[in-house]
Amino acid sequence: QAPVRLAIAGYGNLGRGVEQAVAKNPDMVLTGVYTRRDPAGVHPASGVASYPLSALAQHRGKVDVLVLCGGSKDDLPEQTPEFARHFNVVDSFDTHARIPEHFAKVDAAARAGATTALISAGWDPGLFSIQRVMGDALLPDGATYTFWGKGLSQGHSDAIRHVPGVAGGVQYTIPVQEAMQRVRSGTRPDLATREKHRRECFVVLKEGADAEAVRQAIVSMPNYFSDYDTTVHFISAQQLAAEHAGMGHGGFVIRSGNTSNQLKHVLEFSLQLDSNPEFTASVLVACARAVHRLHQAGQHGCKTVLDLSPALLSPRSGAELRADFL
Ligand code: NDP
Repeated sequence: QAPVRLAIAGYGNLGRGVEQAVAKNPDMVLTGVYTRRDPAGVHPASGVASYPLSALAQHRGKVDVLVLCGGSKDDLPEQTPEFARHFNVVDSFDTHARIPEHFAKVDAAARAGATTALISAGWDPGLFSIQRVMGDALLPDGATYTFWGKGLSQGHSDAIRHVPGVAGGVQYTIPVQEAMQRVRSGTRPDLATREKHRRECFVVLKEGADAEAVRQAIVSMPNYFSDYDTTVHFISAQQLAAEHAGMGHGGFVIRSGNTSNQLKHVLEFSLQLDSNPEFTASVLVACARAVHRLHQAGQHGCKTVLDLSPALLSPRSGAELRADFL
């Protein structure tokens, strides 16, 4: 079987992750990295060629699935519908509230172009979404809880960096252990936002900045911090660079439910990731395999991970899967 030919659009953390994931999947090959920046300044680690994004139009015949690695805020809402018209695509769009709108646009483009698209692949949305659906379907009389962390939140770290007096900083989301224990006990507690997660910030001050004023500005920031117990630590720029450059993340999806009044059941799925983008990229690459197969089977339009069977993600044959994994 010829390898599945992937191309990467957007070479940031996720783009680099896709490159390493392709190297771990012998049935895949990377044909190019496409960027909006000057490709002469973008040097893919694998040595594959980099091209301007505009060159994709001429390379249609060389790409089975285009893996879109742009940001969810500004890039993917434009890029995924645009490229789905001409390519099979996968993206990791993670603005949960806007997924229905994104789906509708990508679906229209993919149907018009007779291509296959899969949006919102990754872990959340992605693997966690599958677990939430499973919990709901298998234990209809129940409640589902999602806890994130410990992990660095890009959005909250950006918010800190915009506070006057702040030179740099990161924010970690941390699940509250007591809340998780209550959920695992199967009692289906009602948990306020503040009870589920806490936030921990590591901040580098600008010279002459008032630490207490910065702390107050952070902990009282609406939407980001005011609904949480937030701790602010002031550190040096050297400490920030040495101790907070990692991109680990993870989390838990827990469903508890009852099949009769007396009998309770708890389902739990968890992830502990050394690198959020590298793991997310590994999910994108497995999803690209599924997209290629769906396209070969004539299934066009937009899908999500909820539409995939596990066998579509695997490089192994059905016979192998039945013998080794059932
Ligand atoms: P980055 O900010 O690293 O990259 C986003 C884009 O910015 C790149 O595609 C690239 O486009 C451009 N870029 C990258 N580096 C530079 C640079 N030095 N100068 C200028 N432009 C640059 O984002 P991530 O790769 O970390 O994340 C991408 C998205 O993945 C996130 O927005 C998030 O929504 C999603 N995600 C989803 C997850 C899930 O579970 N579903 C989990 C984790 C992330 P170009 O090469 O064209 O310039």
